[in-house]
Amino acid sequence: MRLEHRFVKFIPKDLESGVIYISIRFRTAIHLCACGCGNKTVTPLSPAGWKLIFDGKTISLDPSIGNWNFPCRSHYWIEGNRIHRAEEWSDEKVQKMRRVERKEAHFKKKENFYRRIRKLLRISNTR
Ligand SMILES: [Zn+2]
Repeated sequence: MRLEHRFVKFIPKDLESGVIYISIRFRTAIHLCACGCGNKTVTPLSPAGWKLIFDGKTISLDPSIGNWNFPCRSHYWIEGNRIHRAEEWSDEKVQKMRRVERKEAHFKKKENFYRRIRKLLRISNTR
């Protein structure tokens, strides 16, 4: 399956299937899930997120796109404007990913909590 890339300033509200919209300004790429389910797949472009490779003619995204949160659970690579199917997510893997995500969310919350406490302590120490 082929994908057409479009560099845009703003991501349009209604997305065309088979098109990947790329906003450099907002460092985001977005496309409709390649399986055809109609879910929007958002890929933030960042050192911790996805890497966009533009060779002047086609685009590639790295790493692969795993829509394990969608009912379709599709998993594919976008390479040279082509969709390459990767292995499907097993129930086990989905569970594992959910656990990792929950852990990360929990860790972030805890981190914020400690940061707040530290800030509070600093404030009370300087008094
Ligand atoms: Zn899908």
